[in-house]
Amino acid sequence: MPSGSHKKRKRRQEQMIMAGAAAAAVLLLVIIIAGPVSGSGKKQQEPAEDDTAAVSSVVRPSKLEFEIQYAKYTDIHKGSLILVNDSYPYAALPEDEAFSDVDAVKNDYYMIKNIGMKMDTLALKCFNSMLSGFYQEKNVRDIMITSALVSVNQQNLLYNQALENSRNESRGGYSEHQTGLCVDLGIFPEGERSFRYVPAGDYAWINENCTKYGFIQRYTDAMSDKTGVRGHTEHYRYVGIPHAYYMKENGLSLEEYLQELKNYAYTSRTLSVSCYDKDYEIYYIRAKESSSGGVDLYVPVNYQYTVSGNNVDGFIVTIEK
Ligand SMILES: [Zn+2]
Repeated sequence: MPSGSHKKRKRRQEQMIMAGAAAAAVLLLVIIIAGPVSGSGKKQQEPAEDDTAAVSSVVRPSKLEFEIQYAKYTDIHKGSLILVNDSYPYAALPEDEAFSDVDAVKNDYYMIKNIGMKMDTLALKCFNSMLSGFYQEKNVRDIMITSALVSVNQQNLLYNQALENSRNESRGGYSEHQTGLCVDLGIFPEGERSFRYVPAGDYAWINENCTKYGFIQRYTDAMSDKTGVRGHTEHYRYVGIPHAYYMKENGLSLEEYLQELKNYAYTSRTLSVSCYDKDYEIYYIRAKESSSGGVDLYVPVNYQYTVSGNNVDGFIVTIEK
C-alpha cells in the first residue's frame, strides 16, 4: 500500500476519534444538564441497584414531572403484579384485600362452580369484560370458573390430598389462587362431557385476546423451568393490560418480567408499551424504608397511574398517557 494513502487514512482515523470524543462529551453534558426529573425538590431517589441497562444503552430520562407519594413497606404485598410462587408466599394484609363475590357481580356469559366464590374486584370486572367479548364474537357461553380465590386453609387441604395421591400442589400460602387474581376455567357444553379449558376451536379466542383484558396464561410448558409449575392451560391470571401485552409479545413469564422491570426507573428510562390505542410508561421502585418508616414513591404529577407491589422487594408504577 502506498505510504501517502496510509497517512491519509491514519489522519482520517484520528479525525474520527476526535469527533467521537467530542460527541461523547456533548452527550455527557446533555445528560448532566437534563438530569433526572424531581417533583418536589427533595432528595433524588437512587436508581435501582441492578439498573445496569441505563449505563450501557440510550439514557433517556422520562420527561414527566414527578412527586413523592408515601407508601407503607407492607404495600409491596398488594396489587395486580404481586408474584406468588414457591419462593414468595402471599402476604397481603387482610385490610388490603379487595375481594368480591363472583355471583353478585358476574354477567350471564359464563358459569361458576360454587356460590360463594370470590375474586379480586378489579380482576373480576375485567374477567366479565373478557367473557362478554367472547360471547359477542363466538356466541358461546359454556365456560365455567372451576376455581378462583382459595384460602390458605383450603390450599393446605388441597396440598395434603395431593400428597396422598402423589400429585403436585402448592403448600398453603404459596399458591397464586390466594391472591384472588386468577381463575381456572372449565368447559361445560350442554349434554356433553365437561373438560379443562384448552385454547382450541372457538375457545382459542380467549387465549388470543386475553391480554386486551389484562390476563395472561400464567403457566405454559415452555415457561415451566421459570415458573416451577407444569404447564396448565386452564389457569388465567390478571396482571393489567400493558403488562399482559408485553409479557405475551416477549414470551416472558411473570417471574422474568418482574426481573426485567428492574432495569427501568423514573430516573433513567421507563419501559414504554403501546397497545390497544394507549401508551404506557412503566418503571420499578425498590422499596427502601425511610426514617419515617414509609417508602418514597415517585409518581407522575399530571398523569393517571397505578402502583402495585411485586411481593418481592419493590413497586411497579404504571403510567397511562
Ligand atoms: Zn389455577
